[in-house]
Amino acid sequence: MPARSLTHDCAIPGCPHPGRNQLGVRDRVAHSGASPFPNKKRTDALWSLETPMFLCDDHALMGGVVRLTFEPNTSQEIVVESSCCGTEFEARSKSINQPLSEAA
Ligand SMILES: [Zn+2]
Repeated sequence: MPARSLTHDCAIPGCPHPGRNQLGVRDRVAHSGASPFPNKKRTDALWSLETPMFLCDDHALMGGVVRLTFEPNTSQEIVVESSCCGTEFEARSKSINQPLSEAA
C-alpha cells in the first residue's frame, strides 16, 4: 500500500513551497542512571507532541529561532502552543502516559 500523501502549507506567510517538515517537542531521558521506567533508556522520549506547524525544506534548513517556555502544572497532560510570524496555531495536547507516582 503506498504511503498516504498529505500536503501542508509552509507556516511562513507567502511561501509557495509545501510544508514537508513538522515541528514538535519531546522530553527525552537525559541520563544513563536507574530509571523508574525500565523500558525508557537514555535518549528515549517520556513524551513527544507534534505541533500543527509545518515548514518547507528551505525554511526548515535556513535557520530560525524557537522560543520554548515550560510552565509546570499538575494536569499530567502536555500542551504545546505554537505560532509563526504572528499566526497562532491550534494548541495540541496529549496525556502523559508515564505514571508520575513512579518518577524519581
Ligand atoms: Zn517555506
